[in-house]
Amino acid sequence: MIPPTSQKEVRKPTKTLAGVTPVAVMCSPRRCSHGVCRYCPVFDVPQSYTPASPPVLRAIRHNYDSYGQIESRLKAFEVMHHPTDKIEIIILGGTFLDYPVEYQYEFIKGIYDALNGKKSSSLEKAKKLNEKTRHRCVALCIETRPDFARDEDIRRALDFGCTRMEIGVQILDDEIYKHINRAHTVQDVVDATQRLRNAGFKIGYHIMPGLPKSSPEKDLKLFKLLFKDQKFKPDQLKIYPTQVMQNTGLEKDFKAGRFKPYTLEQTQELLIKMFKVIPEYCRTMRVMRQFSPEHIVAGTTRISLRQDLDKILREKKIPIKEIRFREIGFAQKYSNKIDKKIKLKVLEYQANQGKEFFIQAVNKENVLFGLLRLRLPSKESLENSVISELKNAALIRELHVYGQAINLGEKNKGPGQHKGLGKKLMKKAEEIIKKESKTNPEVKKIAIISGIGVREYYKKLGYNLDKYYMTKNI
Ligand code: SF4
Repeated sequence: MIPPTSQKEVRKPTKTLAGVTPVAVMCSPRRCSHGVCRYCPVFDVPQSYTPASPPVLRAIRHNYDSYGQIESRLKAFEVMHHPTDKIEIIILGGTFLDYPVEYQYEFIKGIYDALNGKKSSSLEKAKKLNEKTRHRCVALCIETRPDFARDEDIRRALDFGCTRMEIGVQILDDEIYKHINRAHTVQDVVDATQRLRNAGFKIGYHIMPGLPKSSPEKDLKLFKLLFKDQKFKPDQLKIYPTQVMQNTGLEKDFKAGRFKPYTLEQTQELLIKMFKVIPEYCRTMRVMRQFSPEHIVAGTTRISLRQDLDKILREKKIPIKEIRFREIGFAQKYSNKIDKKIKLKVLEYQANQGKEFFIQAVNKENVLFGLLRLRLPSKESLENSVISELKNAALIRELHVYGQAINLGEKNKGPGQHKGLGKKLMKKAEEIIKKESKTNPEVKKIAIISGIGVREYYKKLGYNLDKYYMTKNI
């Protein structure tokens, strides 16, 4: 039970500093169909999780029922005085898109029903209700494997209202994939990234430095490739240094002297080098898994590694470009003198045969107040998109205004949400596309992958729902 705090005092404010309230929900235990990856712990809980970790305990309390988990998280956030109007749902546990399809639909419907506070007769009705309800789903994230991002998986994810997909990439090396029993290839990563990007999803990669048969040099070289090669270029990262967990093949290797994890110093040194190469358009969501220490056999156990890194990088004034480091909410933690004069800056880059426009609202110190990801797919994709609604469409893959989350309709006194910044970013994106359409006549409309609960916002800007996307002709 979380003790109530004094009125208006927000407990653990970092949780909602990025502008939305994240709610994790865990599906029931089920083994991955390809087998078990060598480093992945197998307990009587969802694959890759350990008993006694907070999300597992919460899920067990509700018998892995999505409705119960969401309902109780909303209550907990309210007790902590966090806003609960704009919810980001994150589905945890195994490979969700590998579960029986019926289970997937039921689980997702439970999420929307809990947000709506009412059980609807179908997922479609639950989603419709969520467009105007109090707890709106503004983003929904599914974690998957590179071989579970096929066209049929993508269609289903769109039907669920999913806006972000995180794929377990770990390292770009087929030999290592084989050794650790990933049962997919680097080419699967390339194909998944291409399909997801052309469907408008925001793409996150999970990366694991320190896997068997790697070295800090190899990890860094392949990490750099993520941003050099246009086939990858993820929007977000979760970096999970390899730990030797109980009940894994790696534990056997470690005990037989065949594998040695990196030391804390090696891990820290490598992470600093990695942070230096992460470009402006990428956000590092997390560093380190939250495993309970009693199940870690060897490897880094320092759960506050991210904070340590932040401190070192800021103290040494190492220039870091990645998003989270520059977000207004976090920047304010380290300085109370933030220049509020904002300008829009556009970074253009190639990814998966298309052109990406990363539009940022920044001040002169490059502190980030908001961003928009705009994609102009290749001529081939514009003309022959496998998703018919996306034929001739430029894509808005993300619109995000940073700062402490506030409730819908409330005014923010500081910098951040509800100051018309979203509209400015949208206007800029429309201008870019209109200009591009002069030389690319195949572009005839803009399509936004929108969380169900943001549809109303886009309607006000002249967009209409076309099956899964909010669209507008240009
Ligand atoms: S795919 Fe993920 S959850 Fe499944 S065994 Fe491998 S690491 Fe574990």
